[in-house]
Amino acid sequence: MTGDTGLVINTTELFRRDSRVSWRTEATLDEMQLVDSGLRSMVVDGALSVRLVLEQTGSEGRSLSHGAVLVRGTATGRWSVSCRRCLEPMQGALRAEIDELFEVNPTEGETWLLRDDCIDLTPMLREAALLALPLAPLCNAHCQGPAPDRFPTGAAEDQTANFDPRWAALTELTFDA
Ligand SMILES: [Zn+2]
Repeated sequence: MTGDTGLVINTTELFRRDSRVSWRTEATLDEMQLVDSGLRSMVVDGALSVRLVLEQTGSEGRSLSHGAVLVRGTATGRWSVSCRRCLEPMQGALRAEIDELFEVNPTEGETWLLRDDCIDLTPMLREAALLALPLAPLCNAHCQGPAPDRFPTGAAEDQTANFDPRWAALTELTFDA
């Protein structure tokens, strides 16, 4: 589905009365399909509740052709994914904090495009949701998966071999999560 997803906002309409406007919507799963990373498949279940404050900046109430729109708020929902070890399905709460800038000449990777006084929240929300997903989800901290040998939890056994006193300080470091 392309075209108007409800996440494209005409800022001329939006800021007609006030330069700071509260805005909320329920973005459906169709609009929030997340790209499969190739290693694992994660999806946002159902609707994503989006609660934002949009603020016009840098244009003093005139056309936004040289201005920018600050977008702050939260997007909340639920994610589902397979445990990375046992592959059992698991779910959790998703909460993305949003603090983004839309401008006419965006900086790639930092700000988003404001074009014809319109902003499209879809790519920004997708990225925010992706970043809010767990990086390495485990159904529980001790999950050994279907093949525990493939996921050793201890350190290598031969660390004491070829011991060099210059490395002593390193042995005091711990790597507990
Ligand atoms: Zn598991």
